[in-house]
Amino acid sequence: MEEIYETENADHLASSPPARGARQRPRENKNRGLDIRSRVSGKKDPHFVEILPSYMVKVARADIYLKVGGDLDYWADRIIDGSQNGKLLIVDCSQNVEFLEKPTTRIDASMGDIHRQGNPHYWLDPANGAIIAETITAALTRTDPDNGAAYESGLAAFRVRLETKMEEWRRIAEPLRGTEIITYHNSWPYFARAFGIEVVGFVEPQPGIEPTPSHTAQLISMVRSRKIKIIGKEPYFNSRTPESIARQSGALVVELPPSVGGAADATDYFALFDALLSRLVESKGR
Ligand SMILES: [Zn+2]
Repeated sequence: MEEIYETENADHLASSPPARGARQRPRENKNRGLDIRSRVSGKKDPHFVEILPSYMVKVARADIYLKVGGDLDYWADRIIDGSQNGKLLIVDCSQNVEFLEKPTTRIDASMGDIHRQGNPHYWLDPANGAIIAETITAALTRTDPDNGAAYESGLAAFRVRLETKMEEWRRIAEPLRGTEIITYHNSWPYFARAFGIEVVGFVEPQPGIEPTPSHTAQLISMVRSRKIKIIGKEPYFNSRTPESIARQSGALVVELPPSVGGAADATDYFALFDALLSRLVESKGR
């Protein structure tokens, strides 16, 4: 196995135990381990990625490309095509995931230009993390059948840890149940469903569209009238509009990293949920 590439924002995938287990086991067997790279840092907007020629050079040597899918990393196709790697196994990590906010008509303007196939931020429900891990395990086993047992045991360990953590997260999230928040981008429907939070508005008038004064004014009056306390902001958005809404409504801007690496404490898939829930619970308690 030479290199495994991950489109990121699936950075969380890179640090998931199936991948980590896969990386460790072959080393014990004195084989070469896996090299997993991400194309986007968790601090950048995964919808918009500048493609550098060096990405194609790296993917030309890779065995697997893990796409987030759901049109989120539409830009990955340019890297894949440019790599001219005929052996590359391209895996859409969303293939077995049930999408939320799927458009019911062919053209639904409310989805904006970047959520056209439904909401692609699906990894933010831990239940989907297990589905993603299965998809990755199958891809690794197909590419490297000799280490299939190691990948399977990595997957099993991941599932056990995820179930344990899910119980802990549900307990931690108890005070958040029914809490109404607004967020900058519509990144959170899966997370909100998993933990009983209500996202009732967005700083962006539509996904990918900059705030407008009239939309912001409507939000301010909604935040005031519903006594909303929390304005979630992904790390890669400008804080000017959220701060202005907060000033005029008494709410608090809370930075919420949607991906691993989006904050110093979001070091892997499990730490990502720890980080998100602790920020929300702490902000709610203020
Ligand atoms: Zn989005």
